[in-house]
Amino acid sequence: MLNEIQGLPAGFLDAAAEDMKRLLQTPSLIHLEGKNPQPLFISTLLHGNEDSGLKALQIILKKFENKTLPRALSIFIGNVSAAEKNMRKLDAQPDYNRVWPGTDSDACEETRLMQRVVDVMKKRKPFASIDLHNNTGRNPHYGCVNRMSAQYLQLARLFSHTVVYFSTPKGVQSEAFSVICPAVTLECGKVGEKDGVSHAARYIETVMQLETLPDHVPGDIDLLHTVGRVTINTALDFDFDGSGDLALDGSIELYNFRQVKENTRFATLMTNTTNAFDVWDDEGNNVYDEYFKLDGQHVVLKKTMMPSMFTKNTDIIRQDCLCYLMEHIDQ
Ligand SMILES: [Zn+2]
Repeated sequence: MLNEIQGLPAGFLDAAAEDMKRLLQTPSLIHLEGKNPQPLFISTLLHGNEDSGLKALQIILKKFENKTLPRALSIFIGNVSAAEKNMRKLDAQPDYNRVWPGTDSDACEETRLMQRVVDVMKKRKPFASIDLHNNTGRNPHYGCVNRMSAQYLQLARLFSHTVVYFSTPKGVQSEAFSVICPAVTLECGKVGEKDGVSHAARYIETVMQLETLPDHVPGDIDLLHTVGRVTINTALDFDFDGSGDLALDGSIELYNFRQVKENTRFATLMTNTTNAFDVWDDEGNNVYDEYFKLDGQHVVLKKTMMPSMFTKNTDIIRQDCLCYLMEHIDQ
């Protein structure tokens, strides 16, 4: 099931995400030697259409093509079948970043696959773990952690001043690896943006060259915590033009990582339902009433909040969520 190999397969450095299935057949764990034998673990293409991580890796691996890497690398190339179709996931598949140990999904082929990756890596005692992603909305580049420990925050701070702590959704790669080593999820902006690729490449090289991660909390971080995951009532047909049951506000993408004031409109109900959204807290409770209210037919914020991951891509809204709501954490 897991294709575990030593060394890069021929053609890897110039292959597109779409070609990974032809090259590797299945999700693959590739081990590369380096001066420092303790490996850095990097996963990418857990979401098949998010290729900035692969491109960043290719830049670094080309740079060291005929040299020794400063540190061993173990690279996990995730959803090759979805990547071949340029999709986040295939319709029949679970989300590859919701099936890692700690998941609330039922056991399946993919949960066993990710357990296997964790088991293999645990024995190799990785230095750190980096999971590379893109998002579809307008967001700054930022790192996410699942533990508020010094070295985890340092690892995230090396990528961006903005750091998000989250504990749901469950079954994400960075939470599973948090048990083994400092771990981050990196959001490298939208697919196709060159600065996301070059930023991730510089970051990977920096982390590979580190001997240790500082053991004190970085002073200069903007630390945020997700308090709710907003999904749309599945009974509603939604869009941005007002032809469905729920019209989402066209400017929501601009709200990402900004303080959005109380009473700001997120959507307008075109039907006689009162329940437009569900808002899920870390314990799985629906806390809609805490964050939203109706103002006539408009769904408005009940208090000032900072959203993230707002997207206008309706497929992603359906497959994942509309956005997250965040608050600052005072250190
Ligand atoms: Zn992703």
